[in-house]
Amino acid sequence: MDRNVTPVICDHRVLHEPQAVLAAALEAYVAIDSADRILGWNAAAEALFGYSHAQACGRVLADLIIPMRYRQQHRAGLARLAAGGPGRVLGQRLQLAAVHRDGHELLIELTLTVTATPDGPVFHAFAHDVSTKVRAARFTTVEAAVSRGLAEASSSDAASARVVEALGVNMGWPVVELWLTDLDRQLLVCAARYAESGRRVRGFAVNEIDYGIGLPGRVYRQRRPSWVPDLAADATLVRSSAAAAIGLRAAVGVPVWASGRILGVLCVYGDRAEDPEDTLIALLSGVAAHVGQYLERRRAEELAIELARTKDEFLALVTHELRNPLTAITATATMLSGEVDALSQPELRHYLAIINRNAQRLTVMSEDLLDLARLESGNLAIRPTACDLAAVINASIQDLTETAGDKDLTLAVTMPPRLSLYADPDRLRQVADNLLSNAIKYTPAGGAITVTADTRNEPDSDSERILWSISDTGIGIPATDRPRLFRRFYRASTALDRRIPGTGLGLVIVRTILERHQGSITVTDHHGPGTTFTIDLPTELST
Ligand code: ADP
Repeated sequence: MDRNVTPVICDHRVLHEPQAVLAAALEAYVAIDSADRILGWNAAAEALFGYSHAQACGRVLADLIIPMRYRQQHRAGLARLAAGGPGRVLGQRLQLAAVHRDGHELLIELTLTVTATPDGPVFHAFAHDVSTKVRAARFTTVEAAVSRGLAEASSSDAASARVVEALGVNMGWPVVELWLTDLDRQLLVCAARYAESGRRVRGFAVNEIDYGIGLPGRVYRQRRPSWVPDLAADATLVRSSAAAAIGLRAAVGVPVWASGRILGVLCVYGDRAEDPEDTLIALLSGVAAHVGQYLERRRAEELAIELARTKDEFLALVTHELRNPLTAITATATMLSGEVDALSQPELRHYLAIINRNAQRLTVMSEDLLDLARLESGNLAIRPTACDLAAVINASIQDLTETAGDKDLTLAVTMPPRLSLYADPDRLRQVADNLLSNAIKYTPAGGAITVTADTRNEPDSDSERILWSISDTGIGIPATDRPRLFRRFYRASTALDRRIPGTGLGLVIVRTILERHQGSITVTDHHGPGTTFTIDLPTELST
């Protein structure tokens, strides 16, 4: 024994076997020599690391309990200490990662001391598990960071970014993603992604994913958390090889709920294989619930603002659209009353025709607006009965044949003699009239109009639908105009350029009627000049 060491034992008669103290200690005691060989291993070490005294003694410590990624560092540190170098780690409380015999990683707090023996220095470590304590502290930090992020964010996008960052930075996850559902397109969109600096995520970082595909898609579809302990072993996930290529090993995804609806999925990716852990799923689910509530609140606020804006815009639009014909009427009438005696008969007729045309436009517009308002407010109920779409289409064609004939347009119809469905025949007639008269109006003389309609069965159910299309060889609708076509007053540049009269309300009414019948209308890509509208209608209305 070194003579400079402060004595410990006061009564050697009673305390004659210090080894017993180490054996009974609650702290794990591990002693190694300068070659990293294990010399001491007490019962608490057996419990902490899972190796018995016999299994541990004589083994190299690094091989036994040091995680692969820290082994090099451990060996270098030990060599420095053994050579009498500066011992930064001696006499300090250190927090280190260790591996249990069963493979799971734990965080230990240890103190390291050294004694000199004739055979060289011996290093003594006293250690205990702090995984739970450290994790709890981290969870608290994460929760606080998430709350702060949500409170400070000025938009949903900013909030999403803050949440993934808070999780990534505080939990040490290299990649964290928040996916939100896009109900229109029926897929998930990555709202925010955190990737630790230096981690290249190209190849892995897709921005859209279908329901059921990949971890986000799986969690969304199954509506419950999913833990992937080893990404490389899970071939069912589309991004697993891309994840493995950038060093990601394990992943967890939890659903983001709000008022019983699933809004998206929160996914975290780790760089080592890990076993499912309840507390972690609980933490993530808690964070996800927080995010869900936030997004829902935000969406409600944004919707209210949008609604107010739409109302204002609509009012301005209506005023503008009504003012044009009204101005024409007022100006012409004023001019007429001042100069009526000086005008010739043909001039008088010309001005009266202007007044008439504009008054008619106002009438059509106000009727369309009223119709639309009633339809949208639900005041104009559709009255479905068992009816025949073929009869509706034929009647409409019959009424419009003369107008089509005037323009020398050919009209071809392909449909079975009966197309039975449960719908409001008057409203379907309105749809047919609108689309056919548009086809006639927007097709120059000599063109052709084709109407087809037929039933088809849904692949996965017994429900039957009708597919109905109206094509023409007319002026067409540019692709850039199509997304806005079903908005009130919207008129395509092709119609405006040619000064073809119209209100831009017909298609909105058509779409509203079809939606009330649980159907839809789309303007399809057209080969060659012209336009095709396609309608999809169920033959039965589901309740
Ligand atoms: P309106 O025809 O009274 O302007 P609609 O709502 O019926 O209003 O149509 C909106 C716009 O869609 C039209 O102004 C026109 O630009 C375009 N459109 C509709 N049908 C056709 C068609 N068959 N061919 C070309 N453009 C069309």
